[in-house]
Amino acid sequence: MKFVFITGGVVSSLGKGLTAASIGALLEAQGLKVGMLKMDPYLNVDPGTMNPCQHGEVYVLEDGAETDLDLGHYERFTHAKLTRNNSVTSGKIYEAILRKEREGSYLGKTVQVIPHVTDEIKRRIALCASEDIDVLIVEIGGVVGDIEGLPYLEALRQLAQEQGRNNAVFVHLTLLVYLRVSSELKTKPSQQSVAKLREIGLQPDILVCRTEVPMAESVREKLSLFCNVPTEAVVEERDVEVSTYELPLLLHRQHLDKLLLSRLVLPYIEKSLSVWEDVNRRIRFPKTTVAIGLVGKYTDIPDAYKSVREALAHAGIENQCKVDIRTVEAEALEAEGWEAKLSDLCGILVPGGFGLRGLEGKMCAIRYAREHNLPFLGICLGMQLATVEFARNVLGYADACSTETNVPTTHPVIDLMETQKKVSCKGGTMRLGAEPCILAPNSRIRELYGTERISERHRHRYEFNDTYARAFEEKGLRLVGRHEQLNIVEAVELPRHPWFIGVQFHPEFQSKPHRPHPLFVGFIKASLAYQKQG
Ligand code: GLN
Repeated sequence: MKFVFITGGVVSSLGKGLTAASIGALLEAQGLKVGMLKMDPYLNVDPGTMNPCQHGEVYVLEDGAETDLDLGHYERFTHAKLTRNNSVTSGKIYEAILRKEREGSYLGKTVQVIPHVTDEIKRRIALCASEDIDVLIVEIGGVVGDIEGLPYLEALRQLAQEQGRNNAVFVHLTLLVYLRVSSELKTKPSQQSVAKLREIGLQPDILVCRTEVPMAESVREKLSLFCNVPTEAVVEERDVEVSTYELPLLLHRQHLDKLLLSRLVLPYIEKSLSVWEDVNRRIRFPKTTVAIGLVGKYTDIPDAYKSVREALAHAGIENQCKVDIRTVEAEALEAEGWEAKLSDLCGILVPGGFGLRGLEGKMCAIRYAREHNLPFLGICLGMQLATVEFARNVLGYADACSTETNVPTTHPVIDLMETQKKVSCKGGTMRLGAEPCILAPNSRIRELYGTERISERHRHRYEFNDTYARAFEEKGLRLVGRHEQLNIVEAVELPRHPWFIGVQFHPEFQSKPHRPHPLFVGFIKASLAYQKQG
């Protein structure tokens, strides 16, 4: 087994996840089977209970694990099989250790950060290093110098020692600070970050330098000298021009793949990255642009709806257009003159969400889409609100609501799932992960998927209240998807509308740039048709 360890320096949000994912893509292009592991030093057991303002969206895996959004990058860039083992936090590490301590498994010993925490970290890494992969890429969250990250770095140091010089490579991603007034690229913060690594016995093999301007040879030499890295292993990672899918190509041009393989004593074969070249060519030359409204409550945090944004972009690639995602603050639609905020859009998407804030605004957007024949895609909460809106304005149930709001209602058209009624703990207790769904014959959604039986990922507690099924069907909202065994309503559509679909699941988690999701492709296609009609 070979390991690539990725750490970050100077600042957070440098794109370590994207760099790790791109390295995965480059190694796969070399014919290697890669595994990906994210280790986050924070104490939450998983990000499932965190607000999107903290770390962006919660990404859900096939097996229902609620993970950091970097796992989304891993799935979009590589074919790595990801399960809950591939997302580790200090919360999980300490949870396991404290359980063992209470069970008496430490046989009277003092339980310590070294060796017990570091051993547990190494055990988690070993869990991901299965026989069917050649290289495991391990990304350590946070920034070198963070106190909570120290046990991870120590564990990597031990592991590298155990594995031998040729089996582990350390990549350090750092930021070169550009001083605009003097047009200077400064290396000191990177030097100090590497010094911090060396303090605990880690010497990076490769320095990947984020920079907004080209890195001069003199800068490369300086970094090489002060950071004790050969000049050829100082890699420039310029800001991408159009899309993050340029990154594998950009790093390939800087010979990062060759460097990694040579360091791991693996053969390097000159190969074209045709899949990535093709994706980027199509992103660069769209035939048109289509404006899509993303109506949510975290509109100033781009990462809050990361996978939805990516899935829209993928559908744009497929439809040869650029998707101009216009975020619409849901609460702003609750004030006078809200319709003007939607009038330029060719499609409306209401994504998943929780809580009361912005609900009425989201329903204004849904009503607008329904009444103006504007293509609409509702995801999870978006689907639930589409049924509430329909109940209020078409069925005439003026106080219809979801019981999630706690607002008194005589028509709880969205209600807590039976299985959720006894649940009081918040972490990891929603209906989570991939489940089978059967699509109704002669429905638009079935036509889009091209198959009757699908599997999609979930993350919710509330569901469509089936006692209202007939009332909805009679007035034209068709229930077109149901869980294969549980019979939960998973998809609704309006056959009399050009394109109006709501789904209880999250299709965005299965979309890839070279394999766009059929629902998103259909949505963008319909939005283009709407645009064409003027
Ligand atoms: N809040 C809703 C529920 O729990 C929807 C969840 C979501 O959109 N992910 O059912």
